[in-house]
Amino acid sequence: MGIETIVNISHKYGSDEEFVLAGGGNTSYKDEENLYIKGSGTSLATIKAEGFVKMSRKSLSKIWEKTYPQNSKEREAQVLKDMMGAKCEGEEAKRPSVETLLHNLFPHTYILHVHPARVNGITCSNDGEKVVKRLFPDAIWVKETEPGYILASECRSKLEKYKVETGKAANLLFLQNHGIFFAANSEKELDLLVSHVIETIKAQEKIVPDFTEVKEDAEAVEKIKTVLASSLGGATVKFTLNKEIEALCKSKEDFAPVLYPMTPDHIVYCKSSPLFVDDAENISKDVLDYSDKHGFMPKIVFVKNVGMFACGKDEKDAATAEKLWLDEIKISVYAKNFSGVRPMAENMIDFIANWEVESYRSKVAEGKA
Ligand SMILES: [Zn+2]
Repeated sequence: MGIETIVNISHKYGSDEEFVLAGGGNTSYKDEENLYIKGSGTSLATIKAEGFVKMSRKSLSKIWEKTYPQNSKEREAQVLKDMMGAKCEGEEAKRPSVETLLHNLFPHTYILHVHPARVNGITCSNDGEKVVKRLFPDAIWVKETEPGYILASECRSKLEKYKVETGKAANLLFLQNHGIFFAANSEKELDLLVSHVIETIKAQEKIVPDFTEVKEDAEAVEKIKTVLASSLGGATVKFTLNKEIEALCKSKEDFAPVLYPMTPDHIVYCKSSPLFVDDAENISKDVLDYSDKHGFMPKIVFVKNVGMFACGKDEKDAATAEKLWLDEIKISVYAKNFSGVRPMAENMIDFIANWEVESYRSKVAEGKA
């Protein structure tokens, strides 16, 4: 029961790459008084009971009675302070997930929040809202908006409206260009809900990603890897080529569906845009131009007719970037079933990218980065 059940749920979905990549997603358990939410920096696949942060639900609810500043930086800082203040005694050293407020909005005992490619094929598509309404008439749809307090408050008003109109609490919430919340009162109920959603979506798919490996031009790949590693100051570079990548790197036009990030995860691990190189001879110059324009180095580089290169400060960093951009590609293919991709809005990309800088700065300030 309770905490052991949420540990089980976390392990089950956290170790399945269909649901969770690179430490993403979060879970919670609640009773009348307390919310137990996944702590920041823990991973669902391996979390233990003590990895959850015990919080006072009453204190969290009080956040909605307060008025916060309009300025987003000041507002988020104050909300975060109040959220930290809602931790129970003995939990001081832990840091609750940034999505804590969302978890507390549901009355259900168990909450699972994940960003699966299959679901994001809908949330990142042009027809996302229509498709959700048609396939899941009882689900809530929330438009892409600033993460943090604004997103939580948008979800709150939608959930309350649903409750007033139907007399019951919604148990499914889709977030545009982000992911999904599942809410249930038992593990069994949660599993049934998850499989209902996944099977319903699967039944709609006429086009699915084809990740069949394609033989690369080994000589060209090695040459590019060397040039990239040195242009990026000794970065680790990983190469991938499959049927989807082959089709995307035929030309800049073919590359268009994955030119912009689909969800915040893609920005966090792969930066706000990949680099497309038309002519392998110009890679060093293109990397320089990219870093002049963006103020950072690219993490994902597509070279025309060659394939995809994922770059990172070490093997793990490069592998994570690769995994996330493969996820981006999957989403772009799934979205073809729903009128094509709708990447994140430009202002949201900038917002998240800046937020990342801020959180990096704050870690530096705490001496953790
Ligand atoms: Zn999320």
